[in-house]
Amino acid sequence: MSEQQQFDVVVIGAGPAGYHAAIRAAQLGLKTACIDAALGKDGKPALGGTCLRVGCIPSKALLDSSRQFWNMGHLFDQHGISFDKPAIDVKKMVARKDGIVKQFTGGIAALFKANKITAFYGFGQLQPGNVVTVKQHDGSEVALKATNVILAAGSDSIELPFAKFGEHIIDNVGALDLEKVPKRLGVIGAGVIGLELGSVWKRLGAEVTILEGLPNFLAAADAEVSKVAAREFKKQGLDIKLGCKCTATEVKKDGVHIRYTDDKDAAQELVVDKLLVAVGRRAATKGLLAEGTGVQLNERGQIVVDEHCHTGVDGVWAVGDCVRGPMLAHKGFEEGIAVAELIAGLPGHVNFDTIPWVIYTEPEIAWVGKTEEQLKAEGIPYKAGSFPFAAVGRAVAMAEPAGFVKVLAHAETDTILGMHLVGANVSELVHEGVLAMEFKGSADDLARICHAHPSLSEAVHDAAMAVHKRAIHKAN
Ligand SMILES: Cc1cc2nc3c(=O)[nH]c(=O)nc-3n(C[C@H](O)[C@H](O)[C@H](O)COP(=O)(O)OP(=O)(O)OC[C@H]3O[C@@H](n4cnc5c(N)ncnc54)[C@H](O)[C@@H]3O)c2cc1C
Repeated sequence: MSEQQQFDVVVIGAGPAGYHAAIRAAQLGLKTACIDAALGKDGKPALGGTCLRVGCIPSKALLDSSRQFWNMGHLFDQHGISFDKPAIDVKKMVARKDGIVKQFTGGIAALFKANKITAFYGFGQLQPGNVVTVKQHDGSEVALKATNVILAAGSDSIELPFAKFGEHIIDNVGALDLEKVPKRLGVIGAGVIGLELGSVWKRLGAEVTILEGLPNFLAAADAEVSKVAAREFKKQGLDIKLGCKCTATEVKKDGVHIRYTDDKDAAQELVVDKLLVAVGRRAATKGLLAEGTGVQLNERGQIVVDEHCHTGVDGVWAVGDCVRGPMLAHKGFEEGIAVAELIAGLPGHVNFDTIPWVIYTEPEIAWVGKTEEQLKAEGIPYKAGSFPFAAVGRAVAMAEPAGFVKVLAHAETDTILGMHLVGANVSELVHEGVLAMEFKGSADDLARICHAHPSLSEAVHDAAMAVHKRAIHKAN
């Protein structure tokens, strides 16, 4: 091994959390290196982590392609548009997705160069004394000495012991790269990834059955939002079975056989051509820490950190999916930036109460803050105002009237405590709630802000007015 190279900051992992940390540290004048082990589909190093390679961006590319296809068959007719039967070229669709991935992973490499960040391509391991060793892809090994190390190793899909990944049983990586539409797609897990990727292949013509272990659909979302979403997914033909415990799988000639017990405890079997296992992700901390670093892992394999993402070991921090909190790219962005700023002596901070959640199905689902169920459980007095997209001119003009916006405000102070949305483009609208909550805004503040007409955001406006029973476009 060559002599140790010295850096102010060494980041392990160039996913959303790691590359934000590295770029912000470099902007603040710190000599920064970032290590990543991932390779792209072409076998070359690809920065950007799960998000850019096999997560957020490629899934949204396929969601958009499949949405266009679905709309041709299900929406265009309402607009008076007719054409011959639509056809999908899956290889071309996946190639488009790959092009977008390449553009964005290459973009991170360019940003590293522009910010004078030294990139190392290989597997990094933290040693005691803030030394990081890197086994590079060319077989060589380097050691880096850092004043501060930021661990941003991200997460991997959870594999079920009775459903090993292979050609027929796949995770998100496989589901983003199918060469043709499977006739029958089974999905274990009705969480964000299962619903999004299940929707992609359903829209393209697969028969999709989703088996979910929990008795309630989308338990983390507001109950009314989950109800509307479940109704819309059913209309689209997504077969979501709740309260199902999968116990075994077997790959046979005619497909993957999944044995499970249903919500009445009856034994069932489902046969599919492909099975997507989307039961969650676990922190990718295997091999990350050498003996004696002092960094602690919890029972879920996550790196233990305080609210400032500090591990308790001098100069060692951890951010993103490999620590507690929601596994969301933008949560990692904020932690990465906050840690870089703390290292530079600035007041870095993440407000975990205003992290938005989005599910990019049709309709989209989004929320920020507390649900009605949480407010009730915590005994917080609140008022709710909601407004349906069916009464919003723009939504009806777009032929997307499903869903609503709900604003929850404190009964005494009127401070906004949560916003819950299901409908078209709510992935964008939720940020009105995020902004209002960041500024400790009230429902009355939001109600008094001028919103463009006609726009989907009018649903937010009227929902805020509905908190005080003064919505204009519905009876209060
Ligand atoms: C299908 C899918 C869709 C998703 N959609 C969304 C979405 O729409 N919005 C959203 O917010 N989130 C989404 N997510 C989640 C999001 O991708 C993650 O929350 C995010 O990528 C986490 O960022 P991270 O930087 O913590 O880790 P990662 O993105 O996992 O990056 C970690 C990086 O570190 C590297 N690494 C790990 N260990 C080492 C090591 N020891 N040495 C060197 N390199 C190492 C890995 O190779 C990887 O490149 C999605 C995830 C999936 C799977």
